[in-house]
Amino acid sequence: MKKIYLLLLMLMTQLTFSQHYALVLHGGAGNITPQRLSLEEQKEYHEKMREALQEGEKVLKEGGSALSAVTIVIQMLEESPLFNAGKGAVFTWEETNELDASVMDGRNLNAGAVTGISKIKSPILAAVEVMTNSPHVMLSGKGAEEFAKGQGLDTVDNAYFKTQKRLKSLKKFKKKTGSLSDKNQDWKFGTVGCVALDREGNIAAGTSTGGMTGKRYGRIGDSPIIGAGTYADNSTCGVSGTGHGEFFIRYNVAYDISALMKYAKLSLKAAAEEVVLKKLVVAKGSGGIIALDRAGNISMVFNTSGMFRGYVKEGEEIKTAMFKEE
Ligand code: ASP
Repeated sequence: MKKIYLLLLMLMTQLTFSQHYALVLHGGAGNITPQRLSLEEQKEYHEKMREALQEGEKVLKEGGSALSAVTIVIQMLEESPLFNAGKGAVFTWEETNELDASVMDGRNLNAGAVTGISKIKSPILAAVEVMTNSPHVMLSGKGAEEFAKGQGLDTVDNAYFKTQKRLKSLKKFKKKTGSLSDKNQDWKFGTVGCVALDREGNIAAGTSTGGMTGKRYGRIGDSPIIGAGTYADNSTCGVSGTGHGEFFIRYNVAYDISALMKYAKLSLKAAAEEVVLKKLVVAKGSGGIIALDRAGNISMVFNTSGMFRGYVKEGEEIKTAMFKEE
């Protein structure tokens, strides 16, 4: 009897874990070329992305959820000053850091987002709290911070996010553009995002950012907007974007990729290319996306010169890249 029970248990475990996991991340798209990054810097980016993928893979390998993997990966990237999320976030024109993040669970289309926060250490954790412990999808500013604090999340002084490198970028940006104009644009995007498929076939996606250098105080980009910067639906795909947020909002980028798969029956590759390499290019909206579908197919497509990116699939080596021809 005991033997039969054990056999059944083994079979059930195999059945529930029949899906192969996959994990993909980005660390921003933009003017990323070998001329702009020293070999030392390139190494740092590769190492950090690999480290984050390793941690995320550990979760998935042990049968953890796509949502946990996405959260852990993004949290690690938020803590690294290399990326424009959490510590190392870009500055507003007023020299403050305002952070946005969102997360979506493809199992049930649950989603959570925070925007314009400046005192919660991990914006992605705050987004997860909004999704799991509030009846809302998006909380902003003070309300989001009070809520996150109430959920027991770590708070920090706004100075925690500040790095000299980003301050220098802002100064350079101000010098180049002269004044705060809504036409000013920054062409480097360092947002972070992650999409995962777990062994139960569930997809989750998340994105976290400091926004765009020199942005107007109070500006909200695409990263916290479900359908624009982040989307996940088990029946189609999970997507996280990086780029000129205003275009990602107007073109509903993440959802559009999912919708092309759902209604036009495009493959993930065709849908992602249609949106990023055609629609956005015509509109002059620069950026890129990472995505995966329920079969574990991965897409990392961008219309800029580079995008920090990497992925791992069950049984395969971790791969990371940043330039176009890689
Ligand atoms: N999409 C982000 C925003 O517009 C910027 C980025 O991807 O780095 O806020």
